[in-house]
Amino acid sequence: MRELQMLIDGQWVASSTGKKMETINPFTRRPWATVPYASVEDVDSAITAARRAFEDTWRNTPGVERAKLLFKLAELLDENAECLAHIESLDNGKIIRETKSQMHFSARMYRFYAGAADKLFGESIPMDNPNLLDYTIREPFGVVALITAWNSPIQLLANKLGPALAAGNCVVIKPSEHASASTLEFGKLILEAGFPAGVVNMITGDGTVGAHLTCSGRIDKISLTGGGHTARHIGRNAIEHFVPLTLELGGKSPNIIFADADLNRAVVGAMAGIFASSGQTCIAGSRLLVERPVYHQVCEALVERVGAIKLGNPLDPKTDMGPVSNEQQYQRILEFIERVELQGARILVGGKEGVGIDLVPTDGYFVPPTVVADVSNTMPIAREEIFGPILSVIPFDGEEEAVEIANDSDYGLASGVWTTSLSRAHRVARQLQAGTVWVNTYRTSGAQAPFGGTKQSGYGRERGIHALQEYTRVKNVMIDLSDEARDPFSIRVL
Ligand code: NDP
Repeated sequence: MRELQMLIDGQWVASSTGKKMETINPFTRRPWATVPYASVEDVDSAITAARRAFEDTWRNTPGVERAKLLFKLAELLDENAECLAHIESLDNGKIIRETKSQMHFSARMYRFYAGAADKLFGESIPMDNPNLLDYTIREPFGVVALITAWNSPIQLLANKLGPALAAGNCVVIKPSEHASASTLEFGKLILEAGFPAGVVNMITGDGTVGAHLTCSGRIDKISLTGGGHTARHIGRNAIEHFVPLTLELGGKSPNIIFADADLNRAVVGAMAGIFASSGQTCIAGSRLLVERPVYHQVCEALVERVGAIKLGNPLDPKTDMGPVSNEQQYQRILEFIERVELQGARILVGGKEGVGIDLVPTDGYFVPPTVVADVSNTMPIAREEIFGPILSVIPFDGEEEAVEIANDSDYGLASGVWTTSLSRAHRVARQLQAGTVWVNTYRTSGAQAPFGGTKQSGYGRERGIHALQEYTRVKNVMIDLSDEARDPFSIRVL
């Protein structure tokens, strides 16, 4: 058992109460490490450390110096990718091929924001009155709470930490209780890179610890990746203190295959959309909309390919799908599978027959990749986020119906369009209510491209230059260059 500690003010510390939590390896269902359960005092110490670091050091550190540290961090992350990926796969069951590539992608994110740290320009604004000089400054908020989910801790953190630090904020990070280990290990790289004490703090524990952090009234901005329930709770408290939020929440994303698509590529894209990470991604293309002329062909191809997916130890590079991340998740997905046929849909492959059988030689939280056909968009399976490897296939007739079904959802995070028609691709992309539209690809990312949701998938944007704006506020400076005294009782409209 490894005993992990929290990072507060540049020091590794246990909880002030000594309380710890076990973290479970979902492949074995056994605890493999403990993490501290932060007390209210620990949360307060982390915020105090971040505030002091912000006031004393970080807000006066020039962009070029912040950039150097971020570049160094990126380098260390690349060097330690293997070790961090191993820890993350142990902790959340995600396959090592993916966690390793996520570490390098995260390094790319830090490089992107390192390059941006000295380019936070304001604007010079032309006024009607030539005697007025008006300009804007982009300022950091101060202390930012970064709260992440368990499915991709290091990558979700990179989406937030890169722009937050580049913009000059100090942070308190709270990873999920289900997968805190890789974040704490990453904390060592923060220290090695040379960030001043208190600029980055990490506290661990469950949602109550997150609530202490976000309800403290001592935070200037909150960024959450998580579910709608948590977002509502945080949002209600944030408005008490008028704290701005960035919310990256769930999805029920449509992946649309038109009859004119390259079907081979489309089926691979459909699989990538839902079975990568055992379906535990916010962008999962969990609703596969297929145009009726190719519906049966696509279903057959899916069944054939799904049969070849190799479930196994997430640490084995040959494994395609690991277990789902935790007991709660496992039970929830199984309940969904139980209810599928009651809803009137048809399981083509996977389903409860596959649960608990000799898929792999452990009793890990394995859920078989499952394809459900003849789904109607009104069924709960098409409306609720499952966060598991369950694909709902929905037939449609024509472009108009495809868009209508795609947009008929509480969520609006991602979407996919498979077509060989250029004009259709642009037409449909315009109409889809989603933060991301992929055309002839799915689940492809870039540090430069903004990412985020609409509707109940949240608001605000991560990645790209857009994310930098999320971590700064605009100050306007207006200077009267004339020497005139003005009438004190009227506002000059200028
Ligand atoms: P949760 O909302 O349960 O948890 C997210 C984070 O919030 C965790 O660190 C959690 O801590 C913490 N938390 C829980 N309650 C509170 C609270 N009251 N106040 C402050 N913090 C709190 O989500 P999951 O971890 O279960 O992740 C799954 C969800 O995340 C899905 O809906 C998924 O779609 C979404 N997600 C969105 C992504 C995006 O980029 N849009 C990416 C990945 C996931 P703890 O876990 O310890 O309870």
